[in-house]
Amino acid sequence: MPENTNLVVGAGVSGAVIARLIAEKLNEKVLVIDKKEHAGGNCYDYKDKNGITTQKYGSHIFHTNSEKVWKFLNRFTAFNTYMHRVYAVIDGIETTIPFNLNTLFDVFPRTMAEKFSDQLIDKFPYNTRIPILELQKHQDLKFLADYIYNKVFLNYTIKQWGLTPDSIDGSVTARVPVLISKDSRYFQDVYQGIPLNGFAKMIEKILEHPNINIKLKCEFNDYRSLPYKRFFYTGSIDEYFNYELGMLPYRSVKFKLEEHDRPYYQRNSVVNYPNNYDFTRIHEYKYYLNEISEKTVIAKEYSEEFQLGENERYYPIVNTENLELYENYKNLALNYDNLYFLGRLGDYKYYDIDKAIIRAFECFEEIKY
Ligand code: UDP
Repeated sequence: MPENTNLVVGAGVSGAVIARLIAEKLNEKVLVIDKKEHAGGNCYDYKDKNGITTQKYGSHIFHTNSEKVWKFLNRFTAFNTYMHRVYAVIDGIETTIPFNLNTLFDVFPRTMAEKFSDQLIDKFPYNTRIPILELQKHQDLKFLADYIYNKVFLNYTIKQWGLTPDSIDGSVTARVPVLISKDSRYFQDVYQGIPLNGFAKMIEKILEHPNINIKLKCEFNDYRSLPYKRFFYTGSIDEYFNYELGMLPYRSVKFKLEEHDRPYYQRNSVVNYPNNYDFTRIHEYKYYLNEISEKTVIAKEYSEEFQLGENERYYPIVNTENLELYENYKNLALNYDNLYFLGRLGDYKYYDIDKAIIRAFECFEEIKY
């Protein structure tokens, strides 16, 4: 009976968490629908014929400082103790990013590296994170800041966004700040890891509850006029309103998979190529769960514009104009008091997995009875 059931659109992280909270804490029925043929959204992964857990939509690494989120997920999966590192090839040298004090010594002669290291330590408190656009404001560090901007950010960002770092929202490049420390990890969060049976299984477990039903390969349009008790929409808000105010832009990515007849292709799970080739980075999936195989699978990642019907939405493009359009859609949503938007697409926010979960927790608290 739709009247007694909540409809959740999208079986990704956000949809699964809100469905679980409603099923468990309100003891109400939930129907979760998804147009894809699998649950898990863009976190979906699968074991390929060589037993390698392959992430269909590119690398996902769980990391959080939230004990609440960590405890929640640990009800559904165990994690390994993986701490993510990313290498980048700069002038032919493989070094770790975020750019940190170790990176200086990889890319510069010792005397130069020592000078820059002293300057950075004098200028900023130890263990702080300085966004590249902030570092560039310091005239006395101009050579170093320009070097990092040009070698790490400029060409990667042009490939990834079709724009230069100074013409996109500063929060995007601030995700990979310059670290005033010797910490070479990609994330500094307390809790980090990969679900031992993969992300898809973790999300399936979250959805495993007697009050939850899942229907895959189905379109929201077939459900939208049914009298569900509440609607939770994790797709893009412009799609919900049939694009009546115009389209929200997104970036998309394509992954070209290659199987290689050797145990390893590269030295790390992710290697970035800011200044070479047309792809941004290469993922080698077997590293995440330390899977042993004579073969290996890699994915070369190419960025492209999102085009409806052609590819998937991956990244909201945060700028004033797009946020204004998003807010106008949000205002339309105010006309319905049983309609909720959440998730990277529903909120048009560049959430990491933990932030999407925190948002689903908040959305649950906002539910009107
Ligand atoms: N970025 C860059 N060079 C790099 C890594 C990141 O310029 O080697 C910039 C780029 O603009 C990218 C942003 O920092 O979109 C955020 O990077 P992150 O690794 O967080 O992106 P994600 O893994 O979410 O695609």
